[in-house]
Amino acid sequence: MKEAMHEDVSKQIPSIVVPEMLQQSIALIGVYDPSEVLRYANDAFRSAYFIAPGEEVSWQTLMRRNFAAGRGTVISTDDIENWISSVRSRRGKSRQRTYESDLHDGRFIWVTETRRDDGWIVYVGTDVTALNASERKLRLANEALFRQSTTDELTGVSNRRHILARLKDMLGEGRDAWACLVDIDHFKRINDTFGHHVGDEVLVNVAQTARHVIDLKDSFGRVGGEEFLILFGSQPLEDVRSTLKRLQEAISNMDVLGRHPGLSVTISGGLTYVSPKDMQEDVFKRVDAGLYSAKDNGRDRIYFDNVEIHGKPPQASLPTTV
Ligand code: GH3
Ligand code: MG
Ligand code: MG
Repeated sequence: MKEAMHEDVSKQIPSIVVPEMLQQSIALIGVYDPSEVLRYANDAFRSAYFIAPGEEVSWQTLMRRNFAAGRGTVISTDDIENWISSVRSRRGKSRQRTYESDLHDGRFIWVTETRRDDGWIVYVGTDVTALNASERKLRLANEALFRQSTTDELTGVSNRRHILARLKDMLGEGRDAWACLVDIDHFKRINDTFGHHVGDEVLVNVAQTARHVIDLKDSFGRVGGEEFLILFGSQPLEDVRSTLKRLQEAISNMDVLGRHPGLSVTISGGLTYVSPKDMQEDVFKRVDAGLYSAKDNGRDRIYFDNVEIHGKPPQASLPTTV
């Protein structure tokens, strides 16, 4: 009888007790959905980041809001949009990410973010303020170096080194993927007509627009002057195509265009399917060829290898899913 009762209690307790314990834990616990909206946060998390009880807020809104108010995470930047792009180029890419975060209230938080395959992320933060301060300084300096060495200074997205390393990782994992090389059309003309500083503004806007349109689990980086590489994880071609279409639309509606009458920006792209057998050179050969075809055939369009996919379905013989 005693044993039977014990069994019943142990079966019931977790579903009642665990949520309550998480809610009251001194660890900061938050859960983001695949669109980066905070869907669960315990009391410690809400209080550290100034979130009202029950409020659901996107990660980006939260960062912008706390940065403007000088509270929550200490963010050493004078350009919050650049900082957001830079963090998004590292966030949600692998199953686990750990980093240290300073809070304005003086606490140092050791953070582990764990991502599920479907894109949900759980954030667990532990207060490590009491740990050895000199080691901590070293860790922070290391992190800052890593950030610098992987971020494109002008646009805040992954730099060439980082995006090529992602491609290398992808090939090493033996998974199917897609790669798209994107190049701004007649960029030289933009520089010549509106000035180099407007050219820079366009680069920043294109990069940040792309970072917002492209899914967090996919990668995006600047490989050269006005050339960017997008790496899409395994997904149907239809999804890749609709993302690229949304990217073209978003670029043609960027705010920067409103600030400079007469300015218009379009992109061309070369897309290819990346097979686990590919070498990096094979991928680049195909995206380069696709981009060349897109330029040669009037620009403002995307080629899937040698087939235009802008607004019309690819040939039936090509793979439609990976
Ligand atoms: P296409 O449509 O064929 O791509 O023509 P394009 O004019 O875009 O290509 P081209 O390669 O002739 O010119 C690219 C220009 O991009 C030349 C270079 O001065 C400019 N550029 C490269 N990096 C930067 C940068 O960081 N800032 C600015 N403002 N311009 C840059
Ligand atoms: Mg160009
Ligand atoms: Mg170019």
